[in-house]
Amino acid sequence: MINSRSRLFAVFGDPISHSLSPLLQNYFFSKFNVNGVYVALRVRPQRLREAVAGAMAMNFAGINLTTPHKQEILSLCHHQSPEARLIGAANTLVFKDDKIHAFTTDAAGFLVSVRTHLARFSGSHVVLWGAGGAARSICFALSRLGVEKLTLVNRTALRGEELAAFCREHLAIKTVALLSPDHPELAESVTRAGILINATTMGMHPVTDAAPLMRFDLIGKHHFVYDLIYNPRLTRFLFEAEKRGAAIQNGLDMLIHQGLAALQIWMYTDYALDDRMYHEIVAKLSAELI
Ligand code: NAP
Repeated sequence: MINSRSRLFAVFGDPISHSLSPLLQNYFFSKFNVNGVYVALRVRPQRLREAVAGAMAMNFAGINLTTPHKQEILSLCHHQSPEARLIGAANTLVFKDDKIHAFTTDAAGFLVSVRTHLARFSGSHVVLWGAGGAARSICFALSRLGVEKLTLVNRTALRGEELAAFCREHLAIKTVALLSPDHPELAESVTRAGILINATTMGMHPVTDAAPLMRFDLIGKHHFVYDLIYNPRLTRFLFEAEKRGAAIQNGLDMLIHQGLAALQIWMYTDYALDDRMYHEIVAKLSAELI
């Protein structure tokens, strides 16, 4: 029940109407007995500073950030967790003693989401499409998983080069290559790699016929194909991969676990999501998806 002691939480983004975070966090609040309320607020990029100051002034307990604020927010924060600093992005804020503390939970969410596939990652070759905030977190997570070779693919060369430089300078991945989406060597990399990951927005609702890779014939039984997108649940990339015998996974599990990690940061508490709760929240979130 919402009352005058309810703690306030929000996600800031633009656009934001598609966000599943209010459903997710308010579900967690009810299950973990947190007297809180979580809303989605549209915050334009040029008003981010004002919005954060306003939230702090109104004693919000915590804020999540989504596109396009994850990188920009760092310049407004007094403290950054080592991971947020390294990755260069934050999705979770804590206000404490009039100071803003920044954290990132995307990498943690991804790591939990692949917990049943760990053996696939160790020593593997991964092809990763995308070079935005999410891709940076995934690269960090891949280095933790012992990936040995990473082939990055991005539409905008400069952004791809920046991500490749970050990986080479800061992450323990033996070989980092960067290819353009139409590079002739990409076909061979895809064929040889064991894991293909989409960290772009290609295929996301409403442009569901898009995919990061259109040469679906290159995908086979030996691949594990992961799409960070969760709406639709089965992107074209995943649909085509599954048809060719690949193991597939979408971004819903990552979404749930990055949200749980944010809640744990805000409440300084380790919450365990049991199977019953997990299936209940998957069903609730899935009902909102196409
Ligand atoms: P972002 O920073 O805006 O990056 C978007 C990426 O997509 C960039 O690499 C961009 O390439 C690429 N892209 C966009 N449109 C494209 C097009 N038409 N053709 C080719 N490339 C295109 O976004 P983000 O925060 O990294 O998020 C990326 C995806 O991950 C989104 O779908 C988001 O929903 C998903 N995500 C999921 C979770 C989860 O929990 N499951 C968490 C975070 C993000 P350029 O550099 O060329 O623009």
